[in-house]
Amino acid sequence: MSDTPRKDVHPRTAAVHAGTRRSQYGEMAEAIFLTQGFVYDSAEQAEARFVEAGPDEFIYARYGNPTSRMFEERMAALEGAEDAFATASGMAAVNAALFSICAPGDHVVAARALFGSCLYVLELLAKFGVEVSYVDGTDLDQWRTAIRPDTKAVFYESMSNPTLEVIDMQAVSDLAHAAGAIVVVDNVFTTPVFSRAVALGADVVVYSATKHIDGGGRALAGVICGTRDYIRKVAEPYLKHTGGAISPFHSWVMLNGLTTMDLRVRAQADSALAIAAAMQGHPDLSQVIYPGLADHPQHDLAMAQMGSGGTMIALELRGGKQAAFNALNRLQLIRISNNLGDAKSIITHPATTTHQRLSEEERERLGITPGLLRLSIGLEGADDLIADLRQALGN
Ligand SMILES: *Cc1c(COP(=O)(O)O)cnc(C)c1O
Repeated sequence: MSDTPRKDVHPRTAAVHAGTRRSQYGEMAEAIFLTQGFVYDSAEQAEARFVEAGPDEFIYARYGNPTSRMFEERMAALEGAEDAFATASGMAAVNAALFSICAPGDHVVAARALFGSCLYVLELLAKFGVEVSYVDGTDLDQWRTAIRPDTKAVFYESMSNPTLEVIDMQAVSDLAHAAGAIVVVDNVFTTPVFSRAVALGADVVVYSATKHIDGGGRALAGVICGTRDYIRKVAEPYLKHTGGAISPFHSWVMLNGLTTMDLRVRAQADSALAIAAAMQGHPDLSQVIYPGLADHPQHDLAMAQMGSGGTMIALELRGGKQAAFNALNRLQLIRISNNLGDAKSIITHPATTTHQRLSEEERERLGITPGLLRLSIGLEGADDLIADLRQALGN
C-alpha cells in the first residue's frame, strides 16, 4: 500500500509522507526491507513479473526494493519529477545519468567547473567515443556556440563546487532544448529544498544524497529524477544491469533525512548568510564568495532561481596556501573534512584535496587558488562559527 499525498501539498508534507508503503502490519515508521529477493506465488507469477513488474512488484534488490521505492517516490514528489531511481552514491547517479543517455559519436556540452569525479566521468565518456565540449557555465554565449544540432546532452552543476558559480538554468535549458538535447543537472549544491530544476527545464536531476539529504554524514547514496519514460526505460535498465543499486538500509537513512531536510537546510542557509556577511571585509580575506551576498556576480540569478544563497561559502585568504593551512589548523569547532551538507560545519582546502588531481593552470582557471577554502555550514549556532573563524584568522 502506498501513501502518497496530493501533488499540491507543501514540500515539507511530501518530505514526511510521500511514497510511504506499509506492510500488512501497518507499521507507522518506514520499514527496512532488508531482502535481496522476493517470493513468487507461482511460476506463472514469476514469468509475468519478468515481463513487466508493477509499481509494487519487486524482483531483485538490484532492480528495486520497497524501502528504496519509498525513497525514490519521496524524492520524485519533492523534485516535481514523475519518477526517480536511487543509487549507491551520487557518482553512481551521475555515471548512470550520462552513460545511459550517450552512445559513441554523441556530443555533450558540459560546464568546466565540476566536482572532480564528474570530470572523470566525462573523460570516461570521451574515452568511449563521446565528444565532450567544455564551456564557462556562467557565459551563455559559450553555451550558445558549443551546443550543436547533434548535441545529445548538456551537463552542469547548478551551483558549482567550490567557487559557487550559478548557472542560468532556464536559459541553458532553452538553448539545449532548441537543439533537441537532454539537460542533465547535478543539483547537489542547490539542494532539493531550493531546487526548481524541473520547472527551469532540467530533464534529469541528479543528487548525491550523501550530502544534505542524509544531513548527518552517515551514508553514501544518490538519486536520479526525471520523466517516467526516462527513469524506467533508460536509467533503470542501465542501473539494474550495471549494479549501481542503493542498499535498502541507506534508503531508510535517506528517508529519515528527508523528513527534517527542509528545516535543516533553511537553518544552515540562514547561518551561511550571517557568516558570509560577518566575514565580508575581514582584512585577511581577499574574497568572500556567497551567492546570497549582493556582491556575488550572480546574486540576482541565485535569488530568482533558488530564493537563497545556499549552505556553502568560499573564503579566499590573502596569504595563500600557508595562511589557509594556518587557519585550518587553528579552527576548534569547524572540522577539516571533505563532505558537505552535514549538521557539523566542515572546511576543505580544495586545491590540495578535492581538486588536487587538476593541473595548476586548470585550478587557476576555475578560481581554485592556493588561498581558497570551502566551507559547509552546519547546524551549530552561527555566532559560534563566526567566533571560530575569527580566532582562526587571528582577529
Ligand atoms: C559529493 C558530490 C558528488 C558525488 O556524490 P557521492 O555521493 O560522494 O558519490 C557529485 N556531485 C557533487 C556536486 C557533489 O558535491
